[in-house]
Amino acid sequence: MFKSSLIALCCAVPTTWILWNEMRKNEELLGELQGLVDRDRLTDIATRDYFFSRMSANPDAYGVSLMVDIDNFKSINDTFGHFAGDKVIREVATTLAANIRPDDIVCRFGGEEFALFLHQHHQDEGLEVAESLRQLVEAMSLNYEGQIIEVTVSIGGSLKQRIETIETAIKEADVALYRAKNGGRNQTIFSTVG
Ligand code: GH3
Ligand code: MG
Ligand code: MG
Repeated sequence: MFKSSLIALCCAVPTTWILWNEMRKNEELLGELQGLVDRDRLTDIATRDYFFSRMSANPDAYGVSLMVDIDNFKSINDTFGHFAGDKVIREVATTLAANIRPDDIVCRFGGEEFALFLHQHHQDEGLEVAESLRQLVEAMSLNYEGQIIEVTVSIGGSLKQRIETIETAIKEADVALYRAKNGGRNQTIFSTVG
């Protein structure tokens, strides 16, 4: 009786340890996978998926949406090379992320475009933040292998009312961004809708 209990115990301890270890590894793996979904690998800011999942958790959020797009980025790639272009994207992302409040959110929306949501900001406050971000990017002195790269961004903004969806707010900001590009770039334009 004592012998069989001892054998059972001797088997149970390593089995429990193996199971616990496997569970821990699975949790780590899940954490890593979630990180890949949530964080953009080039810039380490949020991904577009994370942006929308955060916004959908608070659908009646009031605030300002901004779409930020690097100006003439293709010619930066063509002149200085793709790695220099990557560095520009990273530096712009860092500047945007470092100059918003912790509750605000910035994501890499795609290529050389970023989306931001500034919680509880009215249009004039959003415009002020957008202009300061635009000026900070313009003032960035970006050195790539001894060459100075001048970078500017155009920004489109829109006010998201509580009843409006984030998708609509982003679309409005995108229309304003298009106008900022057509207006000569390196400027901020706000949507007149909303
Ligand atoms: P505009 O001022 O109108 O925005 O012009 P643009 O040249 O910035 O815009 P366009 O859409 O013509 O070019 C964007 C380029 O961004 C094209 C694409 O090859 C490049 N791009 C997209 N993603 C990346 C990336 O991760 N790294 C680099 N280096 N380039 C990228
Ligand atoms: Mg661009
Ligand atoms: Mg673009």
